[in-house]
Order: sequence, then structure tokens, then C-alpha cells
Amino acid sequence: MTIHGISPDVLAALERVLGQSGVAADAAGMARYLGDWSGDHHGGALAVLKPASVAEVQAAVRLCGTLGLAMIPQGGNTGLVAGAIDIDTSRSAVVISLERLNKIRLVDADNLILQADAGCILQHIKDAAESQDCLFPLALGAQGSCQIGGNAASNAGGVNVLRYGMARDLIVGLEVVLPDGELWSGFSGLRKDNRGYDLKQIFIGSEGTLGIITGVEVKLFPKPGRVETAYLGLASFEAAITLFRQARRGCSDLISAFEIIGSECMELARLVDPNIVAPVTAPVHVLIELSSSAAIDLRTLLVDFLAGAMEKHLVTDAVLAESGAQAKVFWTIREGLVEGQAKRGYHVRTDLSVRISDIPTLIAQARQFVALEHPGWFPQAYGHAGDGNIHFNVLPPLDLAEPESRARGTEITAGLYDIVNALGGSISAEHGIGRTRQRVYWAGLSPVHRRLVGTLKNAIDPDGLMNPGCLFPSTETVS
Ligand SMILES: Cc1cc2nc3c(=O)[nH]c(=O)nc-3n(C[C@H](O)[C@H](O)[C@H](O)COP(=O)(O)OP(=O)(O)OC[C@H]3O[C@@H](n4cnc5c(N)ncnc54)[C@H](O)[C@@H]3O)c2cc1C
Repeated sequence: MTIHGISPDVLAALERVLGQSGVAADAAGMARYLGDWSGDHHGGALAVLKPASVAEVQAAVRLCGTLGLAMIPQGGNTGLVAGAIDIDTSRSAVVISLERLNKIRLVDADNLILQADAGCILQHIKDAAESQDCLFPLALGAQGSCQIGGNAASNAGGVNVLRYGMARDLIVGLEVVLPDGELWSGFSGLRKDNRGYDLKQIFIGSEGTLGIITGVEVKLFPKPGRVETAYLGLASFEAAITLFRQARRGCSDLISAFEIIGSECMELARLVDPNIVAPVTAPVHVLIELSSSAAIDLRTLLVDFLAGAMEKHLVTDAVLAESGAQAKVFWTIREGLVEGQAKRGYHVRTDLSVRISDIPTLIAQARQFVALEHPGWFPQAYGHAGDGNIHFNVLPPLDLAEPESRARGTEITAGLYDIVNALGGSISAEHGIGRTRQRVYWAGLSPVHRRLVGTLKNAIDPDGLMNPGCLFPSTETVS
């Protein structure tokens, strides 16, 4: 990793705008902003800027524009595709961290709206909603670190998408500092607003390439007073998808999560906590959650549904959570396996999506591909089955060190993308494109799609200073 030196003049100019506490340019001060959560990606920067207000973001962006400095917006740095890390250290870029913009601006329980600075940690937003007996349903393993601005910029998903949708469905308004420093404020509190183009949607999922999100306005929901969770054992992924289809009808619209976990993933969860014991013994596990804010007897509904599924031998084993604490233990397994993978070190990480009915085919073909062409590697399949989203990850043999494992991992990833493309699926259901997938993403676009995406980028960021290298292979190709 190379950290390029910053000239004293540029440093002084940045400090004049942001104060000394708003700029880090030494290796120690910048270190935690230059490596991501996974430990997979490291980068460089001239400096890390930490504006403390929207006006400071505007001033910093204007100054960077004048100096010709590329800007990399950064939230909680939990993204998994190097979107907030400049892994191409030949560029002169500054990271702009939103961490000091961290105030909840408004919780309006009557209108079910919350407004927050972009740097608010997702968990703090969820807590603020809960304090007013409301729910902000975006829920993901990284919620203790990721920021709502990062969630918006990456159109985050998570475990409750099935019921409430992705960030794109949960955001009512955005406030964005554009690459020329001007502020676009799209807060309105309106659930419905059909006046022309919906500009916020252009910025949601744009991965920091069109501007810096400084504020987010989100929808709240009544807090579900009743939640029932069960951990199930099934014979196959086919059975899990049949169960999901039946649960969609049998449990009405009350399903808030339907996660599938291949039993092989238990080893990963145990890397985090060796005491974790799977509640069931079966090749495939399902974590199902029903919830409601109304006085509905969810327990009877779930028990009756599962009794029917067991009679038909669809479910071979079932454990119902007897308390919130037991439900939490079930979720610890799901979250632990993700952490366990990170502990295991470098591995192939994907977030594929296919039509829900194609999930068993995707997993079967991917497992066969790994077994035949990369024997000794360990496939792990789990994911948000209710959204057709599978994380098919592959761990290297324990005795295969980097960089050999990375080189082979690149081949495995390409093979998995071929399988998902042949099924008409997506190479990214949640994590986005970042700097790790931009070539394959770009290569898969039709000429007209490229033209539209390039036109938008050029119109909003004509100098190409906003997060170069992310989403687009390079600025020259955007023409
Ligand atoms: C344990 C774990 C579990 C995860 N689970 C899920 C999951 O279930 N679903 C899911 O979708 N993702 C998941 N992720 C990925 C990640 O947490 C999300 O993508 C999250 O939304 C990123 O938010 P962040 O604040 O960390 O953004 P960062 O990682 O800092 O940035 C992500 C991208 O957004 C841009 N960006 C960040 N903030 C701003 C801003 N204010 N303005 C403009 N651009 C900005 C960056 O430039 C970058 O391109 C998981 C990650 C981990 C580590």
C-alpha cells in the first residue's frame, strides 16, 4: 500500500476549510479509513476529510473541485466491494468521511418519518425509531457500524427486504451535495409525490459516484409487538423453496424474514462462538420470522403451518423460539457465520440473485462447478431466500496461502458469475459494484444502457472527480 504525500499548500487549504480536527493526513490518522471491514481491501489517500456540517461538506467539495482532487465518500466502511476504498493508489484522492454528521434530525411518529444526517449509524436510527414505538426495518449484520448515507448510496438490503423492501423502498427524501458543491435538498415528508423525475432514486445505489449524501429521510412503520421465530431443518434446498411458497400463502403477509442456511455453514458460526449448537440436524436450515403490530395470534398460525409442513415431510425438524432471547440465539447463528467467514480470511464472496424458484438449481450447479473444477475448496450457501438472494461463498483449502488463493478465487468468481448469468440472474443482489466488479458489470451492459448510465454520470459529475474507479472501469470509458 502506498500513501501519497500531500503538499503543505493543499493540506493548509483543506485545514482552513475544515479545521485541523477535520483533516487527517498522517498514516496513523488515516489507517482506519483505508482498510475495509472484511480486511480484503486496502487503499491510499492524500488525506481523510471529516466535515462536521453540511456547509463544511459543501466547502470541502468546492475546494477539492478547484484543486482537481478526486473525492471518495465514505460511510461506515462496511461495504464489501471496495466502493469506499481507493485500491488504485496511483490516483490523488481524498476520502470524505461522513462520521461527524451524525445527528438524528427528526422522529415524527405521527407521520412515520425520520430524518437524519447521513453519518448516523444504522443501529442508532433503529433505536431512535424504537424509542417512539416505531420500526425502521432495514436490518443487516453490519448495522452497528454502517451509516444511513452508506445504506442509501449502496441501496442496502438485509434480512427484512422480503416484507419492507430495500433502502430504495424505504427512503422518502435525500439531501445531496453535488460535485460542484451545490446542495440539492429533496426532503418533503411526502409518501407520494409524482412530480416528474424521482431524483432521489438516481442517487440511491449510485455508490458515491454522483455526489455526497448528507441527509436521509426514511419511512417508519408501527413497531411489531408480536414476533415469532422458528429454526427449521429440511432435507434439501428444493424443500426450502417449496416451504417458502407455501408460507407466503399460509402465513399471509406476516413473514418478515426467511433465511436459508446450508448446514455446512455451522462450522463458520462456530469459529466465532465454539459453543454454538445448531437447533436442528438437517442438510438445510431455515430461519423464519413472522411479525405483526396487530393483535394476531402469530404463534398458533406458525405452529399450525409448521405442523402441516411436517405432516407432508417438507420440514423434518422445527424449534420455535420460546422467548426473545432464544430468537436472538437463532439469529446469532445467522450473523455468526458471516463473521466466521471473515475470520477464516480470504474467500470468494458473492451476493447472487436469481428467480426464487431457480435457487436450488443455482446452488446445485455452483456446488458441482466447485467440486469438479476446484476440488478442495469449500462452498457455503446461505442467504435471503425470500428475495432470491444467495451468498454462494467458497473458502480456500486451509493450506493454500495468498496470493495463490486470490488468483484461484478470481477464476472461481468468474465461473459463478457465468452460472448466474446463464440463469438470467444478477451478479449483485446487495453489495453493489464498487471497484471489484466494475469491469464485469460494464461488460454485461447493452450499448444503450451504457450510454444512459454514462450520460447521467457526465451530466452530474462532468469532471469525473466523484469516486473515480468505482462503478465505472475508468473515466475514459464514460463517453
Ligand atoms: C457483516 C456484514 C453484513 C452485511 N450484510 C449486508 C446485507 O445483508 N445487505 C446488504 O445490502 N449489505 C450488507 N453488507 C454490506 C454493507 O454493510 C452495506 O453495503 C452498507 O449499506 C454499507 O454502508 P456503509 O456506511 O458502511 O458504506 P461504505 O462501505 O462506507 O460505502 C459504501 C458505498 O457507498 C458510498 N457512500 C458511503 N457513504 C456515502 C455518502 N454519505 N454519500 C455518498 N456515497 C456514500 C461509498 O463511496 C461506497 O461506494 C454487510 C456488510 C457486513 C460487513
